[in-house]
Amino acid sequence: MKISIIVPCYNEEAALPIFYKEIKKVLMGLTSTYELIFVNDGSKDHTLPLLRQLAEEDKNVTYYSFSRNFGKEAAMYAGFCNAHGDYVAVMDADMQDPPGLLPKMIEILESGDYDSVATRRVSRQGEPPIRSWFARKFYKIINKISDSDIVDGARDFRLMKSDMVKAIVSMGERNRFSKGIFGWIGFRTYWLPYENVERVAGETKWSFWKLFKYAIEGIIDFSEVPLNISSWFGIVMTFVSAVMLIFLVVRKLCFGDPVAGWASIVCTLLLIGGIQLFSLGIIGQYLARTYTEVKHRPHYIISESNHPDFDSVK
Ligand code: UDP
Ligand code: MG
Repeated sequence: MKISIIVPCYNEEAALPIFYKEIKKVLMGLTSTYELIFVNDGSKDHTLPLLRQLAEEDKNVTYYSFSRNFGKEAAMYAGFCNAHGDYVAVMDADMQDPPGLLPKMIEILESGDYDSVATRRVSRQGEPPIRSWFARKFYKIINKISDSDIVDGARDFRLMKSDMVKAIVSMGERNRFSKGIFGWIGFRTYWLPYENVERVAGETKWSFWKLFKYAIEGIIDFSEVPLNISSWFGIVMTFVSAVMLIFLVVRKLCFGDPVAGWASIVCTLLLIGGIQLFSLGIIGQYLARTYTEVKHRPHYIISESNHPDFDSVK
């Protein structure tokens, strides 16, 4: 049984050595055949030299270095495309995904009842309250409006059988939202809860704004409800204005037409204009994503690796 561990790294020079030591310890107790796949996502610090050194000292280490920062989603995809293990896991380099959980996860997969073990943090301790609040609202909304089951507090940290990895690689969309992809492909998943752990070193790469954009990405990638909302707005507005029109015609015929109501006309115009722009914006969001999909640009570009035959562009 071979285990592949995929680790996306962006400016992780401080956390990497700690992570490497820990994961080595855990893996050595589990199996002798494993690979550590580090994906350097265009780091601006000394992550790359560190990875070169690790690869030199340890033949189980493979690294792929992107030509620029393509984002964690692209880094994970690169890992999936290049992983050869029977069991494949994705883990953050900052120890927020505790390597100590791996033995338990492997045990669950070995039992044969599940295809993947996913982790879910039961607390959001150490996170700003406002961020937690938005996160909870996001999960509530997306679960209402999308087909794929997206669990609150789910992390990207998962151990999967190779069949599931194949399914993920086959989903070659450019706009990636892994939590949705994992849910969409199905398979039998065991949810392993654990207490939130704070990052050991360095700082988070996610600003509030970046998270917000990621949340919108998730909604648009996995739901068509926003598009339906704009259609419904259109239908309701048409109905309301038809009723108003009939009302005005009847009033004109029965009582004549005293000119009044400039303010209400302007307000109505502004309201309709606003709704139109809002709906156009929603359509634009979907169109923009369709555009990036049809361009078929690669997900990432690898500029350096210690693996002799890798796909530099995918
Ligand atoms: N990461 C990445 N590319 C990015 C941002 C983050 O590869 O553009 C990696 C990062 O190195 C870490 C993981 O994704 O291993 C999770 O990032 P982080 O810990 O900053 O996120 P948080 O845990 O705060 O959500
Ligand atoms: Mg983290």
